[in-house]
Amino acid sequence: MKPPLVKVVNLTKDYHLPRQKLFAKAPVFRALNGIDFEVARGSSFGIVGESGCGKSTLARIVMALDKPTGGEVYFEGRELFSLSTKALNALRKNFQMVFQDPYGSLNPRKKVLAIVAEPLDVLPEKLTTGRRQERVEDTLEEVGLNRRDVDKYPHEFSGGQRQRIAIARALITRPSLIVADESVSALDVSVQAQVLNLMMDLQEKYNLTYIFISHDLSVVEYVTDVVAVIYLGKIVEQGKTRDLFRMPLHPYTKTLLAAVPDIDPSKKRQRTARKEGIFTDGASGACPFQPRCREATEICGQVNPSLELKGNQRVACHHV
Ligand code: ADP
Ligand code: MG
Repeated sequence: MKPPLVKVVNLTKDYHLPRQKLFAKAPVFRALNGIDFEVARGSSFGIVGESGCGKSTLARIVMALDKPTGGEVYFEGRELFSLSTKALNALRKNFQMVFQDPYGSLNPRKKVLAIVAEPLDVLPEKLTTGRRQERVEDTLEEVGLNRRDVDKYPHEFSGGQRQRIAIARALITRPSLIVADESVSALDVSVQAQVLNLMMDLQEKYNLTYIFISHDLSVVEYVTDVVAVIYLGKIVEQGKTRDLFRMPLHPYTKTLLAAVPDIDPSKKRQRTARKEGIFTDGASGACPFQPRCREATEICGQVNPSLELKGNQRVACHHV
């Protein structure tokens, strides 16, 4: 049997925060705590959770843009962080990321040609100028843009078109995995659907595997096969998207599915994460969701539940 395209094993990430007092120890914030999952080739894996729960941290590590504190990431069976820099860089063309903010992530001073060709330019095999431009133009067509757009600047495009440019840039090295971190969050709903449909068409055409990260449940429900729900750096529930949306088991998933979106949740939630989050010094064994959980009992304050299979879903809760 072929290994899963991506396998994440017991991933942990600690951030060292600024010291509160001159001689005090710097507090260590655990942004990811024992994350594990597998993504099958050709599937779409969703990661949902509130702002500050660790989604982008996880994305950066899976893309090998940042190192974990502990744990492993396997891509096609090879562990990324035990590869040599050279071997890792040779592998990079196989996984690309579409970033959160198409305004910030596209260099406003560069033309589309240079922006989309950038991932090609870091490959060991160099293309001729003509072939390079041809590849960019072909890829622009793939994402529903015009070949002549190579000579334009990002500001000449709408938000949806800019996101298409970002997708073209990810697609140009013909990756097998694309990680999309809040890729459509900045777009109007109708434009979101167009971009998501494009991504699903591309998936079918190229047998792409996606990791879709979003705080927006409707986006994840629309495009993914399997979804993991993260709360404060820990997967609290995972299952087939259809099952999980129909029958959420974890109290946090239930809250998420019932929640009315906040106007600007990101700032508040980041603060909540910091306040309630797990600090590795004096880390307690409590369930991370326990302070907000209506179903919490004594054991929830004492033992952090592990992720266990309940039917077809994985759930970390003492009361399921
Ligand atoms: P999300 O993408 O789910 O909003 P992030 O992965 O960006 O969450 O952040 C997870 C947590 O880690 C947050 O509390 C955030 O403030 C913290 N964090 C992220 N990056 C850093 C960093 N470089 N240094 C310290 N803390 C960080
Ligand atoms: Mg993020």
